[in-house]
Amino acid sequence: MEEYFIDLSKFMMADSSYKDADGVIFSIPYDETTSFKPGAREGGNAIRTASWGLETYSPILDRDLSELKYCDLKDLDLYGNQEEKFNTIYHVTKEILKDNKRIIVFGGEHSITYPVVKAVKDMYGDFAVIQFDAHCDLRDEYLGNKLSHACVMRRIYELTKDIFQFGIRSGDKEEWDFAKKNNLYLKMDLMNEEDLEHIKSLDKPIYVTIDIDVLDPAYAPGTGTPEPCGFSTRELFNSLYLLKDVKDRIIGFDIVEVSPIHDIANITAITAAKIARELMLMIL
Ligand code: MN
Ligand code: MN
Repeated sequence: MEEYFIDLSKFMMADSSYKDADGVIFSIPYDETTSFKPGAREGGNAIRTASWGLETYSPILDRDLSELKYCDLKDLDLYGNQEEKFNTIYHVTKEILKDNKRIIVFGGEHSITYPVVKAVKDMYGDFAVIQFDAHCDLRDEYLGNKLSHACVMRRIYELTKDIFQFGIRSGDKEEWDFAKKNNLYLKMDLMNEEDLEHIKSLDKPIYVTIDIDVLDPAYAPGTGTPEPCGFSTRELFNSLYLLKDVKDRIIGFDIVEVSPIHDIANITAITAAKIARELMLMIL
């Protein structure tokens, strides 16, 4: 009987069991440190719903989602204060990585990347992080919180010096000074072949974090801190397709800051779903 029914509450084609899955999708409904417009806690479910509007086949990658084995565990059950919630995120992520599965994480706002990457650190030791974002996210503290979305890359820099930041066009002077002083790999442009060669030469596991506001608000209006002068969806995809060359080293990725209550005609959620599809087709 089950074959006549469809579960649209999961990402399309996510029909493997956890045990059989090579990749595990889960979402983190957390947006409590948002400084401007909250709503990213609903991001994961918006991406899932939007995914059903896409094809399962990618003509660029010549692969179909039906060739992959992945499951969708949906929203993580979070309670307690920020520290307790981040502990849960950390432990769950670590368990999934321990089971030798790739992780596909939907935010939530960007602060959630820290406990995820901390689990990556404890599993892999040495690793690199590639960030696509409009913002540096390098503040040491923001509104009294060191674990704010605005501090996430600063905290991650304490876990690995190999961070690569692309699309960055916003931040306060202290953040830009920090980047200069520490000679961070931070670019206003998106990743190009030359950048990739550099990343490749490190020969380390890679985690990719995509803050959807790297796109121009025209292409991704549904986000908490839209920042003008961004990139087109196509420019971002052209950059992401370069990752094909290091696909075997990508142990997971996240897409954060999708906020459906600020979206228009689901543009942002559909875009995020397509990013997820293409990256999954690449790394699984
Ligand atoms: Mn960010
Ligand atoms: Mn951002």
